[in-house]
Amino acid sequence: MAVSASKFENAIKNAGIPKLKWWKDWDKNNWNGRKGWNSKTGDPLALLLHHNGGASTDSSKAEDNKDCKKDENGAKFVNRHPDFDSPASQFFLRRCGQLDINGYTQCYHAGKGDFKGTEWEGHKIPKDSGNSYMMGIEIASKGIKDDLTEAQWETLAKLAVALKDLYGWKDTSTYYFPRHKDWAPGRKSDIKASNSKVQKKFTEYAGQWDGKVPDIEGIYNAEADPELKNPAAWRLAARLADLGYYKGEVAEKGSQGYPAKAVANFNEDTNMEDKSKYGPRAHEKIFGLEKGSVS
Ligand SMILES: [Zn+2]
Repeated sequence: MAVSASKFENAIKNAGIPKLKWWKDWDKNNWNGRKGWNSKTGDPLALLLHHNGGASTDSSKAEDNKDCKKDENGAKFVNRHPDFDSPASQFFLRRCGQLDINGYTQCYHAGKGDFKGTEWEGHKIPKDSGNSYMMGIEIASKGIKDDLTEAQWETLAKLAVALKDLYGWKDTSTYYFPRHKDWAPGRKSDIKASNSKVQKKFTEYAGQWDGKVPDIEGIYNAEADPELKNPAAWRLAARLADLGYYKGEVAEKGSQGYPAKAVANFNEDTNMEDKSKYGPRAHEKIFGLEKGSVS
C-alpha cells in the first residue's frame, strides 16, 4: 500500500532536519489530474536533484546564507509553477538549510528525459515520464558552479535517509538520488556537484552504516581473504567510517573488502588484546552490541 500523507509527514518531521516549512495543500493528491505515483508500489522510486539557478549569492559561507527569507521568491515559484498551477518539485531547499515541502505525490519537475542505457535503467521508468515515478528537490543555487552550502548538504543527507527508510529504498546510493542531468543529459546541467560528491556529503552528514549488524563469520572470511568483497566487510568499513576510523573514504557496497588499516587503528585506540586481528570484543564495541560501549 502506498505511503499515506500522515506517514510521509511523520518521516520528514523525524528526519532531524533543523528547519521545515509545510506549504498549504502539500498533502493534496491531485495536481492537474496527476494522482499518487505510477510505480507498482504506489510510491516514488527516486529523488531527482535539481538546482533552481536563482539564488541571491553563490557564496557558500554560512554567514552569507543565514537569512532564509532571501530564498522566499524561489520557494514561491517552486510551490506554484505559473504554467501548471502546481508545485514544480515536492521539495525546495533554501541556502540556509530550510526544507520547504510542497507536495508528496507526483507533480512537474523532470520534463523530457530517459534513463535507457544508464545505471538507472533498472528503475524501468518510461521515456519522458520521470514526473510520474520520481520526486524532485529544487536546491537554491546560482547554478554556475557547485555552490551548495553545508547547511543544504546536511538537510539533503538527512532527507535522503528519511526517504530511503520511508519508501524502502535499499540504500542512499546514486541509484536513488540521480541528478536532473542524469535524466536529461545535454538538455539540463543541474546539479553542478558530481554524484561522488553527493555521496561523500551524504556520508559526512548522515553516516554510511545501514544499521544492520554483520555476521562476524563474514568479517573473518573477508579478513582471511583480501580478494573477498562481501556485505560484512562493507558494513564494517561503513561503521568504522561513521566512527571516524575510515577517514575520508566511502565504503562502496559490492566492491568493499576488509578495511585492515581502519581495524588496526580501532584496535590500537581501544586497547584490544590482539591489535592485528578482528575479534569478538571489537565486534561488540564497533557495532554497539554492549550498552554504552560506542556512542
Ligand atoms: Zn532541474
